[in-house]
Amino acid sequence: MQVSQSDKLANVLYDIRGPVLKRAMQLEAQGNQILKLHIGNPAPFGFEAPDEILQDVIRNLPAAHGYSDSKGILSARRAVVQHYEQQGFPGVGVDDVYLGNGVSELIVMALQALLNNGDEVLIPAPDYPLWTASVSLCGGTPVHYLCDEDQNWMPDLEDIEAKITPATKAIVIINPNNPTGAVYTRELLQGVAELARRRGLLILADEIYDRILYDGAEHVSIAPLAPDVLSLTFSGLSKAYRVCGFRSGWMVVSGPKDHAESYIEGLDMLANMRLCPNVPGQHAIQAALGGHQSIKDLVLPGGRLREQRDRAWRLLNEIPGVSCVKPSGALYAFPRLDPEVYPIEDDQRFVLDLLESRQILVVQGTGFNWPSTDHFRIVTLQHADDLEEAIGRLAEFLAARRA
Ligand code: PLP
Repeated sequence: MQVSQSDKLANVLYDIRGPVLKRAMQLEAQGNQILKLHIGNPAPFGFEAPDEILQDVIRNLPAAHGYSDSKGILSARRAVVQHYEQQGFPGVGVDDVYLGNGVSELIVMALQALLNNGDEVLIPAPDYPLWTASVSLCGGTPVHYLCDEDQNWMPDLEDIEAKITPATKAIVIINPNNPTGAVYTRELLQGVAELARRRGLLILADEIYDRILYDGAEHVSIAPLAPDVLSLTFSGLSKAYRVCGFRSGWMVVSGPKDHAESYIEGLDMLANMRLCPNVPGQHAIQAALGGHQSIKDLVLPGGRLREQRDRAWRLLNEIPGVSCVKPSGALYAFPRLDPEVYPIEDDQRFVLDLLESRQILVVQGTGFNWPSTDHFRIVTLQHADDLEEAIGRLAEFLAARRA
């Protein structure tokens, strides 16, 4: 019997763990050492989980073997409420908080509850590709609005407005952005909020990097700027707290819920259907949000993440024909390869060639729904010396290809 994948997967792509990674694993199995700059997982690069989080999970483990409430344990949801109350989120109570197996599960849930076939969702280009993939999986149509590299990768409000149609249901904002590292200004976010208000769009705000900020950048959440617009804000412990393996994330519904009873019932039903998120991981949340924010030591001057970001950014810009906007947040750089110098037809082929010939693994820009083949993403989690080695190998590879 022939078993095929469903038609629902026809437009679903997640290239961060796609065919290039598969090839890298084959090469590794053959004894090659690959320098991996493809995935935002802090653990393999010596970033330790904060001890108070580990201790809390360990202490609670013996009592964490049963299912919890579908939305998650109360103590963690209270901690999330307190966290957002302090930031002026409008009307958030424990019932508005959904814990999940990472933000990933909640993104799919939020879209499944929302979308009918053909409904459109505005998503940034470039994006974290789970958003585009999830919209497609849920029967929706992803519509990409452009972020402008010449404006520090800020979203282009005019482009957003031009792409709104009667079928548009929601707008996704990823701030700080993966893959560009852009941190959005208050003015820009006010512009998006105004647009969502005027055109009746739900705001979906992915703020998982909200504490990974460099050079004094300030993170502004969009939900408090739009108290009269229904907003879902997503965040979790994977990045700033370095425990992505715990699969611990949350989603908070804020704004006018009286017009969204049916949607919220849908969210509740999907939360019930998945029974509950991983319970030991939920016990990390209260300790994380309430404890010492050790991420600051890593992102301030002299901190490891900041030093690595600096080194990667400087070295990339030193390569002829390569330019990279300085990331203000998150864990990535998204450099541009001047098409006049490096004419690239197929950027997946390009990163495969780079992998085969220099043993470094990055992700092609089209994997982030960037519309042309002139970008790629590197992760800045590797130690500075390894980043230098990797970017050195990239420079050699590019030197041989210069047009
Ligand atoms: N959102 C963004 C922008 C991400 O970069 C990631 C992971 O890289 C996620 C969501 C998924 O995070 P989680 O580990 O909470 O599922």
